[in-house]
Amino acid sequence: MKRYGLIGFPVKHSYSAAMHNAAFKELGIDARYELFELSPEKLKDEFQQLLEDGLCGFNVTIPHKEAIIKLLGRIDREAELIGAVNTIKVDEKKATKGFNTDGLGFIKHLAEIVGFNPQGKKIAILGAGGVAKAVSTQLAKNKVKGILLFDVDREKAKGLVYKLVRNFPETDIRLIAEANALLQDKPDLLINATPVGMHKEDALAIDPGQLHPKLIVYDLIYNPAETPLLREAKRKGCAGIFNGLGMLLYQGALAFKIWLDVEAPVEVMEEALREMITRE
Ligand code: NAP
Repeated sequence: MKRYGLIGFPVKHSYSAAMHNAAFKELGIDARYELFELSPEKLKDEFQQLLEDGLCGFNVTIPHKEAIIKLLGRIDREAELIGAVNTIKVDEKKATKGFNTDGLGFIKHLAEIVGFNPQGKKIAILGAGGVAKAVSTQLAKNKVKGILLFDVDREKAKGLVYKLVRNFPETDIRLIAEANALLQDKPDLLINATPVGMHKEDALAIDPGQLHPKLIVYDLIYNPAETPLLREAKRKGCAGIFNGLGMLLYQGALAFKIWLDVEAPVEVMEEALREMITRE
């Protein structure tokens, strides 16, 4: 039996095992997906141990997406540009290659399901962490007109903006000094790439008075399915309201294809994710 798994800290909240195990079962593949909680101090040794145990592939989540890079043999160009890895393929000789499917998964969901073509659009992003890096890089690659970016950690936001400006000089990329200025320029799409909204009691990270009817709001959080931001966007009649389940599904489907070189059964994986949500 082939073994795959998620490495992170913590990982027990993850839906990835349900999604991938449903896909293996659907296609009759003799494989199992497991969750591995690896603390940052033990990442190197325990990752090595998992390779020796014969794991064939991994997903990587918080806080290891950047730290794992130096433990890998090769890095795909996309992951290198983003500066983070969320998928690892291990070959028969235990050689490793890192990929990033977060940004591509997001764009695929945006284009195929939301029906939003990012080319020429103005995008506002809340947050400059790991997932914001992947999503903003992919949006810039897809020729958006501009990216407006705010993070409470100004240095982190500055670092991401500088990197994007360097890699995509033709795109208008701006660092926004306060959250409430993020929507002033009437962007087409607002993305929440912060954890704000994961808890019921979370305050909104932006002034809801600025949510305008032509705006599409995409919250990368998938649990809860309706965050306070999405609830507010619905009340204000925003043009589209999406949570992070679609991105989770498509990044997983792309990882599956990398590991096994077969198309993932997306509908079965989505069903497994929905089941997990109704169980909570
Ligand atoms: P991360 O690396 O911790 O980045 C989050 C960033 O948001 C941090 O820089 C954080 O700053 C900043 N932040 C916190 N509160 C803020 C606020 N009020 N306004 C502006 N910025 C704020 O986390 P990540 O890996 O990028 O993930 C972010 C969220 O995306 C996760 O919580 C998860 O819900 C979601 N996600 C979804 C998927 C999916 O497939 N749908 C995949 C990955 C992640 P501080 O560090 O200073 O707090």
